[in-house]
This record gives sequence, C-alpha cells and structure tokens, in this order.
Amino acid sequence: MIDLKDFEFNELAGYLKGIGEPSFRAKQVFSWLHKGAESFDDMTNLSKATRERLKAESCVSKLSVREKYVSKIDKTTKYLFELPDGNCIESVVMYYKHGITICISSQVGCRMGCNFCASTIGGLYRSLTPGEILNQVIFAQKDIGERISNIVMMGIGEPLDNYDNVIKFLHNVNHSEGLNIGYRHISLSTCGVVDRIYDLAEENLPITLSISLHAPNNEIRSSIMPINKKYPIEVLIEACREYIKTTTRRISFEYSLISGVNDSIENADELARLLSGMLCHVNLIPINKIEERDYHKGNKKQIRSFQERLESHGINATVRRELGSDISASCGQLRKKLL
Ligand code: SAH
Repeated sequence: MIDLKDFEFNELAGYLKGIGEPSFRAKQVFSWLHKGAESFDDMTNLSKATRERLKAESCVSKLSVREKYVSKIDKTTKYLFELPDGNCIESVVMYYKHGITICISSQVGCRMGCNFCASTIGGLYRSLTPGEILNQVIFAQKDIGERISNIVMMGIGEPLDNYDNVIKFLHNVNHSEGLNIGYRHISLSTCGVVDRIYDLAEENLPITLSISLHAPNNEIRSSIMPINKKYPIEVLIEACREYIKTTTRRISFEYSLISGVNDSIENADELARLLSGMLCHVNLIPINKIEERDYHKGNKKQIRSFQERLESHGINATVRRELGSDISASCGQLRKKLL
C-alpha cells in the first residue's frame, strides 16, 4: 500500500493525475491528509468513486498511542507511539510562552553510538518514512487540540542519517496546504554527519541547525561520540563555518555537561577558542542520567561558572530549562524499556 503522506505535493499531484483525477484534487487530498483525516471516508469533498479508487492501492497511515505521560508541573507531554510494523518511537510536546514545540524522532533506534544517549542502545532498527515523521506532529496536534508551532528534530535517531526522508518531511510540514509550519520554527539536530551538513546548506531551507558538540577537543569528543573518529572536530567546525557562510543562519551548539568529563573551566576556555568569531549560540544541557552509564550532572554552581566563562569570552550561552521533570525519561528511555 502506498502511504500518500510519503509524497511531496507535486508527487501527489502526479499520482492523482495518473489515476485520472482532475488537477484540483491534489490540494484537497494533501490538505485532508496533513490535517489529520483518519480515512479516505473522512474526505467528504471527494466523490465516492474517487475514495474507492484511492483505497484500492493507498492508505491513510496511522500512529497509535501506546503510552502517554503528562507532566503535572508544566503540561509537557510524552508519547510512545507505535508504528504499523509494531516498532515504537517517542515524541515530546512542550509548552513555551512563544508557542507549542514538538520534539520528534527520525529513526527507530540510532547507529551513531554516542555513549551517553539512550536512543542508540540496541542500534538502528530502521529509518522512518516521511509520512511517519510527519504523523508524530499530526497525531500530537490532534491529541492536544492546539496548534503546534515549532518543531525540533531532537528525538530518537540521527536526522542526517535519514537525509532524503527528512528533507521530504521538511518540505511537506512547511507546505501551505498542509501544516504550514515555517522553516524558521524548525530546528534539526545532528551529531555531526559532515558530508550531509554540506548537502543541507545547499537545500536553501532557513531552518536552525543544531550541532551536538559536547566537547571542546578531539580527545574528549572521540571518547563519548564515535562519529568524531570519522569527522574530527576541526572538520566539523569547518563545515559549520561553511554552513553559516552559505545560509547566513546562526548555528546552535548543544553541549551536555558531564561532571568531570567536559565541564571544567579549561574546557570552557577551549570551547570558546574553538567557536571564536562564529555566528552561533551555545545551549548548555545538564546531562540526563541513563542507567547504562556512570555519568552525572554537575551542580548548579558549576554549570553557571561554565556559562559565565563562555560569556566572558563573548560566546552567547544559555542553560536549557528542564521541562517535564516529573515524567522523567529523556528521549529514548520509554522505547528502551520495551527492547
Ligand atoms: N541525533 C541527533 C538528534 C537526537 S539527540 C543529535 O545527535 O543531535 C538530541 C540531543 O540530546 C543531542 O544533542 C544529544 O547529544 C542529546 N542527548 C542525548 N542523550 C543525552 C543525555 N543523556 N543527556 C543530555 N543530552 C543528551
């Protein structure tokens, strides 16, 4: 069965034309699909004959909610979604003053192997289709009954390891006949798949690129992130500088502070030297403990000192606020329980 949500608008238009539908049909079907129709019979402005024709070889893909947790503190909502093949992924909805943000997954599992991350334990099962990535936004939006205005691709998986499907998803979620979420409201986070960062720069999408840096030098970075052996830090930073030049967009660097590993004042100095003169922002994240590792977050004072040291060197840095602390389980943790 074809999942029509895997098609970009023009592909859908071509497909519908191919089965004899008039050209105005594409807008109708695209809009129904992306705004949460659950079946072809929901598409009430389509004739019965058209609906039957569509049913013959295509489907309206679905996600089902396997588990859901809502924070009593800040309404943060975590979903464990089940895919049609029984695999599970996670999405998190967060309520901010500037709007509602969803954090979505791009793969089932991950093969990048960062040793502090729960999502990569068990490796990669498979990549998500464009429709499956989009369905997380559609289903969560429907469930909460409010418009989701921002997306962060920071859930399970490495988006640049599922490049073509992620690009299709971005085109679709931005489309004016669909969810119409502005590129400037979308962030994509990568552990540093350098070749793909160059490709992404050429796509001409004004999204925000986040780089999971987590270390100021090769020694530390290679000890926690295997990708650094393939693309050392200087190669990654060069790609970032090129990305900024091509897109004129600021890059956001994610830096998870692990006590005694990457959080010393010397590490802050080294990080500042690495990023000097770059159009960027550093997001400091106290590491979330996972059972498999003996990593701990530093105390508030240490985190604050690291931030202040970066700022004393002219590097813009913020500490990420923790949301949904009572429902714990940072991304990858719910799914991992099932493995
Ligand atoms: N694969 C992508 C996106 C998914 S991870 C990437 O690597 O960027 C989203 C962010 O959470 C990344 O910055 C990742 O390094 C970070 N992360 C993973 N596990 C974490 C943990 N236990 N504590 C804090 N941050 C973590």
